[in-house]
Amino acid sequence: PSWPRTTGMEYKDLQEILLTVPSPKKAREWSRYYTAGPHLAGKNLSQALWTKDLWQEFGIKNTHIVDYDIYVNYPKDHRLALLERNKTSKGLEVLGSADTDSWMIKYEASLEEDVLKEDGTSGLSNRIPTFHGYSASGNVTAPYVFVNYGTYEDFEELVAKNISLEGKIALAKYGNVFRGLKVKRAQEMGMIGVVMYSDPGDDGEVTEQSGYEVYPKGPARNPSSVQRGSCQFLSFAPGDPTTPGYPSKPGVPRQPVDHAIPSIPSIPISYKDALPLLRTLNGHGPNASSFSKYWHGGGLGYKGVDYNIGPSPDHVVLNLVNEQEYVTTPMWNVIGIINGSIPDEVVILGNHRDAWIAGGAGDPNSGSAAFNELIRAFGKALKLGWKPLRTIVLASWDGEEYGLLGSTEWVEEYIPWLQASAIAYLNVDVGTNGPYLRTSAAPLLHKVLKETAYLVQSPNQTIPKQTVGDTWDHRIATMGSGSDFTAFQDFAGIPSLDMGFGAGGRSPVYQYHSNYDSFDWMERFGDPGFHYHATIAKLWGLIAANLIETPVIQLNATDYAEGLNSYVASLKEKAVNETDIDPAAFVLLDKAIDRFQIASSAHDAVAASLTQKLLDDDIPWWKWWERVKLYYAIRKVNTKYKLLERQFLYAKGLDDRPWFKHIVFAPGKWTGYSGATFPGIVEGIETKDLKSAKRWINIAAGIVASAAEHLE
Ligand code: GLU
Ligand code: CA
Ligand code: ZN
Ligand code: ZN
Repeated sequence: PSWPRTTGMEYKDLQEILLTVPSPKKAREWSRYYTAGPHLAGKNLSQALWTKDLWQEFGIKNTHIVDYDIYVNYPKDHRLALLERNKTSKGLEVLGSADTDSWMIKYEASLEEDVLKEDGTSGLSNRIPTFHGYSASGNVTAPYVFVNYGTYEDFEELVAKNISLEGKIALAKYGNVFRGLKVKRAQEMGMIGVVMYSDPGDDGEVTEQSGYEVYPKGPARNPSSVQRGSCQFLSFAPGDPTTPGYPSKPGVPRQPVDHAIPSIPSIPISYKDALPLLRTLNGHGPNASSFSKYWHGGGLGYKGVDYNIGPSPDHVVLNLVNEQEYVTTPMWNVIGIINGSIPDEVVILGNHRDAWIAGGAGDPNSGSAAFNELIRAFGKALKLGWKPLRTIVLASWDGEEYGLLGSTEWVEEYIPWLQASAIAYLNVDVGTNGPYLRTSAAPLLHKVLKETAYLVQSPNQTIPKQTVGDTWDHRIATMGSGSDFTAFQDFAGIPSLDMGFGAGGRSPVYQYHSNYDSFDWMERFGDPGFHYHATIAKLWGLIAANLIETPVIQLNATDYAEGLNSYVASLKEKAVNETDIDPAAFVLLDKAIDRFQIASSAHDAVAASLTQKLLDDDIPWWKWWERVKLYYAIRKVNTKYKLLERQFLYAKGLDDRPWFKHIVFAPGKWTGYSGATFPGIVEGIETKDLKSAKRWINIAAGIVASAAEHLE
């Protein structure tokens, strides 16, 4: 009410449109389109153009392709063979040579996913081979070691137990941490190659353990299913590894890549292909059961795998061949803009379009299909006269899978404008592959997320009228990495949110990055009827509408203060348990957070009172100057909200990874996906570098204090 606008639409009418337009039937149609063939990063121009045309048809006239020239690899050839030296051979001197004649092939891995008659995508002749993004080419032959998940701690334990790693090939399970970090650590340990497989104990449990049948009978990971994926060193920086911090426009200088991507070859395999390798280790080296609990519980015991660590005996080796072609090639973001009445307050919505496989029905095109439905709803509102208060940017990113390429380059290009204007970034990657809402968000966005979830009906109506809010576990994770929000949150200081419906329980039961993440899988198991596709579109749209249309921006600073308090509490506990840092060392940071807490609640209170004034709507028309004063006050409060997250950036960035500028949120250095809070301090504690921990406590204290001052 009473907000100056030229043309418009009542907020509740806009909400109604956003709740009624997204349709499961249409989402199914878009899903069908995106999943009909390969659309790997840099090889999906037709889908970019199609998306642009569609959005324009919906009424978003200002939609363009924004492209970058990005350094990436495409697969050429690969091989994985288990070799055994035959009796007549001389011995180990053949290791590393091209001559494998005196070696017998014990097992030749297929490195292919089975063609299933029930799954149209799995039989496409142009389907994409199994490979790792940013993997190094190489041809290595050596004994191999089972390294569990290949986490930092797993390697520490291998070293502590005197397992020889140098010159060997790692056989690692997928899971726990970002796959590129497994390769990074293996490489640092002097290993010469990595083979990664999806163990059914973690990822798509088999019938006996979970009650799920394997695909195509049931939803669980098919034994031949392979998880492709990027092996960039995420923790260094996302985006084009040759242009950290600046956009990959044609002709820009390019940096060396050694610290950003692996130098040893790696390949992903199925558990079917892993079985002979694992069984061969039976009886060699210690058993995983004698290691710490993280090593227990592999899912292939029932197939005769004992989970011995190895190494394999010298006469049993792996030959790993990985041939990749590296090119610098265009990638295409589709960017749509809806101008609002306030040009320098902007809300950005994004989803990636590229997929590892021909399908991608879950990752990412369940999100892309929902996005199109949301944009169709925006288009309808525009046709009915809606003139948004704030500006909206819609982004269909390319190259997410290789390392958040399209989104990172775009943020790097537009950072001055973004930092002056952006209110929030709302990401949906996988829109759905199951019925449970999963979220992570900056604290500033917790409130809007929580409130909006109750406005959308859940497709699950076991209790009539229940909403997404009712069925949600209300867990909001901190921002880590692994999708396109990273550059917004960690580099540009824009409060971000990431959400989607997923499968529940320990096992994702989902064909992640495999050929079977297909339309057929989605239609039968992931989201029969495509109701969750429509639901995520509604939730996404309503959150956006709230941030776009409410005169007083609906960010909540008090939640940020509460977040900071709880992060510091767990840091202190960690410091006391793991080091001899005195909790008193945190005194400056504690003080700063107290101050920030007071400033936050004061700011939120002022914001609430301004909202109330608008609602009261009791300024008589002839007291126009009071109305002007009210608008100025709102503008001032909004600008403080807008710039609040930016206050937490530290220009020099984190130690060893200066691209990451946010002092509160970063991907864990050795986890990648899951977030670290106060990463500088945590790393100081974890590496027992107390000087560094204290230095970071002081940096954080200074930054939190100035964020408080910003609000005061
Ligand atoms: N989402 C992709 C993955 O998890 C890309 C993540 C990244 O490279 O940061 O593999
Ligand atoms: Ca760049
Ligand atoms: Zn994705
Ligand atoms: Zn993905």
